[in-house]
Amino acid sequence: SVPLAFFSGIGAGSKKGILFKGGAALEALNEVKAVVMDKTGTITEGNFAVQGIVPEKGQDEITLLAYAGSCEQVSTHPIASSILMVAKERNIALDRPESVEEISGKGVRAKVEGKEILCGNEKLMRDFQIQLPEKARGTYGTEVFLAADGEYIGRIQIADEIKRDASLAIGAMKKQGILTAMLTGDAQENARAVAEKTGVDEIYARLLPQDKVQKLISIREKHGSVMFVGDGINDAPVLAGADVGAAMGSGADAAIEAADVVFMTSAMEAIPQSLTIAKKTGTIAK
Ligand code: ADP
Ligand code: MG
Repeated sequence: SVPLAFFSGIGAGSKKGILFKGGAALEALNEVKAVVMDKTGTITEGNFAVQGIVPEKGQDEITLLAYAGSCEQVSTHPIASSILMVAKERNIALDRPESVEEISGKGVRAKVEGKEILCGNEKLMRDFQIQLPEKARGTYGTEVFLAADGEYIGRIQIADEIKRDASLAIGAMKKQGILTAMLTGDAQENARAVAEKTGVDEIYARLLPQDKVQKLISIREKHGSVMFVGDGINDAPVLAGADVGAAMGSGADAAIEAADVVFMTSAMEAIPQSLTIAKKTGTIAK
């Protein structure tokens, strides 16, 4: 009778765009006490749009976009696509960097036209002792800072939207008695704004991919079995470290392979739905 129950659960999932990788995934999901989510692409749309370009004195928008675009060509992060889109719209020729390195959870460092370019968050700027002007800090939205040869040259302001069904989905999980938490590499203010709008129980901001694994472990110690939901960009380690790893949306190929559950939809309601299916399946199997 056990395999039959799992078949029905797997079938119910597929109707809702939820792929369970076998009965073991359903069984594990039925034990879950906490759902830990990545922010970008999971709770938010992951469709970043450039809102503003703020060159430092003596710099101009075209130069900022050219440097940023050249750096971001190597990145698959949603931030990168938004910058590349604007560079393309404005017909900005992008140089192929002489060397380029993506720094996970921080941004990109590249050598462009003989200049050492940094394109990323405050952490990246701090790592390279770049002085940011006071005003650039604490602004709402995600800011991508740019530096050339050790000097701050400006920033690009980018915004992402919270998914429409985020608060409904988080409410549904809470009703199921599940603790909800969000992990993000983004700034504390942005994380707090998401918490206010969605009701997610706990938020942890400014985390590097390896910090996310540590947080997941401490949440598991406190609450029990944990499901992690992410898009797989920068979060493969934490996906692999969860009791149930779930990949959401289009996701990265590697994430889909590593995941126990794949949400083929980007709607957040699929998360509580998967828990409901697992519960029903578990009841039938017993
Ligand atoms: P999250 O998915 O929680 O937003 P990530 O680890 O994907 O976390 O990214 C964390 C932060 O690192 C981003 O908010 C951004 O500030 C910075 N970042 C990551 N990749 C890039 C990139 N390609 N270009 C610029 N900034 C980046
Ligand atoms: Mg991410």
